[in-house]
Amino acid sequence: MCGIVGAVAQRDVAEILVEGLRRLEYRGYDSAGLAVVDAEHQLNRLRRLGKVQILADALDAQPVLGGTGIAHTRWATHGEPSEENAHPHMSGENIAVVHNGIIENHEPLREILTQRGYVFTSQTDTEVIAHLVHWELEQGGSLLDAFQRTVAQLHGAYGTVVMDRRDPERLIAARSGSPLVIGLGIGENFLASDQLALLNVTRRFLFLEEGDIAEITRRAVDIFDVEGNAVERTIHESTAEHDAADKGKYRHYMQKETFEQPSAIINTLEGRIDANSVLVESLGHGAKEILQKAEHIQIIACGTSYNAGMVARYWFESIAGVSCDVEIASEFRYRNFVTRPNSVLITLSQSGETADTLAALRLAKERGFMAAMTVCNVAGSSLVRESDIAIMTRAGTEIGVASTKAFTTQLTALLMMVTALGKEKGTVSAEKEAEIVKSLHRLPAQIEQALTFDKQIEALAEDFADKHHALFLGRGEFYPIAMEASLKLKEISYIHAEAYAAGELKHGPLALIDADMPVIVIAPNNELLEKLKSNIEEVRARGGQLYVFADESAGFQESDGMTIIPMPHVDEVCAPIFYTVPMQLLSYHVALIKGTDVDQPRNLAKAVTVE
Ligand code: GLU
Repeated sequence: MCGIVGAVAQRDVAEILVEGLRRLEYRGYDSAGLAVVDAEHQLNRLRRLGKVQILADALDAQPVLGGTGIAHTRWATHGEPSEENAHPHMSGENIAVVHNGIIENHEPLREILTQRGYVFTSQTDTEVIAHLVHWELEQGGSLLDAFQRTVAQLHGAYGTVVMDRRDPERLIAARSGSPLVIGLGIGENFLASDQLALLNVTRRFLFLEEGDIAEITRRAVDIFDVEGNAVERTIHESTAEHDAADKGKYRHYMQKETFEQPSAIINTLEGRIDANSVLVESLGHGAKEILQKAEHIQIIACGTSYNAGMVARYWFESIAGVSCDVEIASEFRYRNFVTRPNSVLITLSQSGETADTLAALRLAKERGFMAAMTVCNVAGSSLVRESDIAIMTRAGTEIGVASTKAFTTQLTALLMMVTALGKEKGTVSAEKEAEIVKSLHRLPAQIEQALTFDKQIEALAEDFADKHHALFLGRGEFYPIAMEASLKLKEISYIHAEAYAAGELKHGPLALIDADMPVIVIAPNNELLEKLKSNIEEVRARGGQLYVFADESAGFQESDGMTIIPMPHVDEVCAPIFYTVPMQLLSYHVALIKGTDVDQPRNLAKAVTVE
């Protein structure tokens, strides 16, 4: 879901609105627009297809004056990206609305409104809100009353704001599943879908809660809960960094980005799931149709993203029952591959500019893939532009070369995509879907819990500082987590690290085991636990030094040569994401002790835009 900004002020607000949109642009966009009313009740609306900059240029050429306004960057779910579908949407000359999210019952509402004589000018679900508000106003009462009655008719996950040209110093906003925050000024007030958008105008914020409706004027903000009772919400003084390029209290970007993971994952999930289901349309315009037809998934990626793809392969096959291959982009693009019928290509990349992945995408398009999807962190990047569907991870800027939050948000997005695919193909039941979605809701808190192991892992890291090699072991979807852990350790500590599927030990790597080779094992309590325990015994019998990150319910006992790091029991489906965090912390602390350049490790670059 994209961005909303609003303002009620005495000064002209168009610039503030556009600056706010710019700050939200990282979430993805396809069009942008604003509507502003001046004291003479003149409403001016300006909308453009494409980047916020295109709207800003249009505004330079055609200034829009007025102190009350709403603005939006859109990520289309209903109706193609176009100027007609861009927000704000209007009903007649007076009512303007912006909306993030999805109105699930837009079809029946559209029918009712059409019967009432409303003419629709867009294909969006949003437009029903504008006409409903118009209709309810005609039935009597204030804009607030009309909006309350409107919102009561909407189903879905959304944040929405309305204004009426005839009542030019008032905005009414509702939050239901998509966040809205009110920024308090002096003699002026603001609102946005993320406080980041408003940090240049205020630092004092009120966060709307689920079901809240707020009436905002220059001098007052009144909030009503879901029952319509007036409520107070606490004012928070924001300490959020203005600039993603500020390390704040952290020593390194990598550390900051590791600790940002709970909020990054909340962003990834926002507006894409409700209590029990994945909102398939929120994955993008046309995603539903593609998933329905998909018979095979081909994932292409490099580095950390490749490891995310490897985890997703287990999920695509075991959860959605759809076959999936994963390949390194630089191999795929130079291999004479066979395209299976109705294959969907999924590229994974933090930057969206990874040269090999981009080349693979271009090649795949020529070679008969049915559709191309990307999971990406940078809006407007080449992969996003050139794919049919782009699912933005919304992790925020990642500066540390060693990827952390980009990886866990990729996994989060992929798990939603897998669930959506299974739902569309009929292989994931409503119960299974609810179980996965509930786990996703719990995930940010579980990641928070994983981060509390920081001190313990810092102490553990001492054992690794003088080592030259390390071996990571996992089974099932934890094998790629071991791969990611070993990649992290080698990238930033320069310790030679390898990952093996634990069952593969006896086919070679066991020969390396001695007292100088730490062996790190990821041991959740799942159906492979007993097999993993046997693999651990194979290492122990050969004098290896084991460090087992084990589910506390898995029954491991600490003993000579075996250190146990007990982990809380977490839902099985999200456990790969959870276990990534202690691995990140381990490599970070080892690198600190070794004194390497954590954020810019030697010989590496952030966005690999060369082949
Ligand atoms: N569902 C709305 C639309 O397609 C809003 C999408 C968004 O959150 O940007 O226009």
